[in-house]
Amino acid sequence: MKRWLQTRTLRFRLALWYGAGGTLLLAGFSATLYFYVSDQMARPLSQNLERDLETVKRSLQIRPGNVLVWNRRIIGRNAQWTTEYPWFELWDEHGVLVRRFWPFTENRVAQLPNSPARGRETLSVFNVAPDIRLRVLSVPFKVPGHQHDWMIRMMRIHEPNADALGDLRLIIFVALPIVVALLVVGGYVITRRWLSPLDRMVAEANRITADDLSRRLPVQNPHDELGRLAIVFNDTLDRLEGSFDALDRFVADASHELRTPLTTLRSVGEVGLRRSRAVDEYREIIGSMLEEAQRLQQLIQRLLELASAEGGAPAIQRSEIQLDEYVATCVGELGILAEAKGQRIEFNSEPCTVRTDAVIFRQALQNLIDNAIKYSPPDAMIRVDVHGVDEHVTISVTDQGSGISAENREHLMQRFFRPDRARGRDSGGFGLGLSITKAYMRVLGGSLGYEPAQPTGSVFRLTLPKA
Ligand code: ADP
Repeated sequence: MKRWLQTRTLRFRLALWYGAGGTLLLAGFSATLYFYVSDQMARPLSQNLERDLETVKRSLQIRPGNVLVWNRRIIGRNAQWTTEYPWFELWDEHGVLVRRFWPFTENRVAQLPNSPARGRETLSVFNVAPDIRLRVLSVPFKVPGHQHDWMIRMMRIHEPNADALGDLRLIIFVALPIVVALLVVGGYVITRRWLSPLDRMVAEANRITADDLSRRLPVQNPHDELGRLAIVFNDTLDRLEGSFDALDRFVADASHELRTPLTTLRSVGEVGLRRSRAVDEYREIIGSMLEEAQRLQQLIQRLLELASAEGGAPAIQRSEIQLDEYVATCVGELGILAEAKGQRIEFNSEPCTVRTDAVIFRQALQNLIDNAIKYSPPDAMIRVDVHGVDEHVTISVTDQGSGISAENREHLMQRFFRPDRARGRDSGGFGLGLSITKAYMRVLGGSLGYEPAQPTGSVFRLTLPKA
């Protein structure tokens, strides 16, 4: 059954549950209503029977020899029912009918079935003639001088507004199937209509492939569940499309970057072999070929670093480091490069500790200081500041270089981005350093920011969480 249900459509299953659930609920409700109403109608009858019983207990006496006395008057053996008596029967301890008082002649009605169940109170309804139903209350009856109880049966016409109850039954039996049918059909139609956007989404999703990620799912109502699902799905597609584009660009850029040194390498070799040359000339040609090979090696090294950082691959080994001292050491080591260009690195710091991966952090910081040295004029001053703000530490590298124009800032951290390609190549850059730094910072749970320095130059800022 479960497996069969799973092969049906959602709207079929919903309609089925509407039908089954609706039937159960309505049947339960109708039965409760029916029994409540019939009980309410019958209750006054029961109360009348109780009252009759009281009258009998008050007025009837049984004297020795089973002589019946009603209000101090002896009732003869053949006494007929009068309006003075409620309707009742008296049964002795042996289950023998002693007397019956009711207004019916014996041939008009059938007998009540059986003698009453002895020793306990019961309430029942009997048909004694086609048009006569009796409501009967049987109770044990104490008779002085007798060891065991007799039974007394009080009777009244049972007429719990039979017509109204009959109507109620009819309404329930006719209305119930109609309501259930309406529920099933209505449920099917409504779910069909509500779920129709899903069909369109499925059709559209089928058309979305890796080759055509530009399509988006239709959003009919952004507030309902399907609309929200489509929005989330579309967001995912946006990101996926972005990643695919970035990957395409990366592959194109990487192959372009690899091709240039390879072509150079080849043409230098070919030119060198065109005619025989002096040893010094060969030496020079091989030297420039080695230079290109080295450049190629560096590029591949950078690409591997980037792949590792962006894939989150570097195994992080966090430890507590005294950041001010650690940065001071890095600055000291890189200061040698700066000095070679006649530059000076100034270092300001307040004591602070962080829990991070020292090697990865050093790589990120080194990229920024390298850049500051590369892109600042000789004799310029570079400043490195470390200071803690709440739960974070900021390390900023400020230089007095040419800065980065507003239009280039937004591309700054894209792979292979070099605003000034010629200058970049001269100074050995591939446009990958900032991308790698950004990826490293993401791995460490921090970030990389940029802002122009005043009056000229750049401030690159690394932010790290302290813990
Ligand atoms: P690379 O330096 O290897 O070319 P980066 O990703 O580190 O690659 O930098 C990308 C570009 O951003 C550089 O080519 C340079 O034009 C610019 N840039 C980076 N840092 C600085 C800086 N401190 N001052 C001026 N320009 C910079």
